[in-house]
Amino acid sequence: MKNFDYNATTPMRAVAVQAWYDASQQSWENASSSYSAGVRVKVRLNRARENMGKLLGVVPASLVFCSGATEACNIWVQSFFHYFNAPNDRLLVSDQEHACLRESIQIYGGDRVQWFTPTESDVTAQLQQTLEGNSDIKGVVMMAANNETGICNPWKAVSELCRERGLPFFCDTCQLFGKLPVEDLGKLDFFCLSAHKFGGPKGTGLLKISSKYPFVRGAIGGGQEQGLRAGTEDYPSIIAMYEALKESSALANNAESVDIRLSWKNEFCHRIVKTIPGSVIHNEGRESLWNTVSIGFPQKDASYWVEALDQAGFMVSAGSACSSSTPKESSVLRSLGVERRFALRTLRISASWDIDESDWLALHDALSMIWRRVNSEPKSVFTEVIDLDSF
Ligand code: PLP
Repeated sequence: MKNFDYNATTPMRAVAVQAWYDASQQSWENASSSYSAGVRVKVRLNRARENMGKLLGVVPASLVFCSGATEACNIWVQSFFHYFNAPNDRLLVSDQEHACLRESIQIYGGDRVQWFTPTESDVTAQLQQTLEGNSDIKGVVMMAANNETGICNPWKAVSELCRERGLPFFCDTCQLFGKLPVEDLGKLDFFCLSAHKFGGPKGTGLLKISSKYPFVRGAIGGGQEQGLRAGTEDYPSIIAMYEALKESSALANNAESVDIRLSWKNEFCHRIVKTIPGSVIHNEGRESLWNTVSIGFPQKDASYWVEALDQAGFMVSAGSACSSSTPKESSVLRSLGVERRFALRTLRISASWDIDESDWLALHDALSMIWRRVNSEPKSVFTEVIDLDSF
């Protein structure tokens, strides 16, 4: 199977598997135990934190290990609304965030949330205008790169804007790691990552915190992670995450390799809109990740395309969430102005590092073949998703 669903998760890198295996054999003790074997694990854990800090360009003590981006985002959101609890306090949030932010903000923030749409034009100027004279806004949330569309936001400029105004800024950098260089990350107040997005183990990640805004408080219990996130640290997974990040960062820092991959993706987009007339690339014309294409088709809902591509040997995702049996329109696509009917016919295609030019061409050919099949079927009004909103 060709992996065009890399934004969902990634296979563990060999270095990460090896590091995890070695640590599970040799450093399995509890890092909080006071006998020498436990202390040794604690020393190794802190060395991993230091090395991780060096790699990310941040102070090691600002890294709180946890189970991944979902937990990191939830910790931050809960802590923010607990600390900024005056009735007028507001959090300014992009409406294109991952559900782990969007939904936790809706639950914990209620009506103390102000949403904005990061548009194609200058997001920073847009935010500057919103913040002007609005002292109720106490923090800003905007992701670096979108998981569904790959669209990249100007996180460095927004971080600078928030810094000038003394506002905490949380940036979900989960999809950036291991895909693009992450220099200047140290300037971010808060960010998060999940190891399984770049070849590390699932269920491991971190939250970067800021000593300027000491309001973060995660799980309470045994006092691990400077008392900010209790629970026995999973050293084998943490060291595996470090090894995976080291290797994938080296790939991401190779500009030539990123550029060539971007050109393969662009060529695919160029071909597919000609082969399937009426198809639309939702991230076209926007700066986006080299591996991600969000494409809406003129016919058939996303599950049809996912299944047909699966049979043809390609892994891709539907661009809409499907919980229970009812496909749900993606809020990210809605924010981009994509019509509901069309959003339900959208695929997210996200290539792994192993995908080469011939794989992109093969994916194009497979889609072309499926499209011919769709056109040869007798037309029926009942084969299409019926958009109840339009009635
Ligand atoms: N943020 C973004 C942008 C993501 O793509 C994901 C996962 O898809 C998450 C957060 C949540 O990550 P995890 O499921 O590893 O906690």
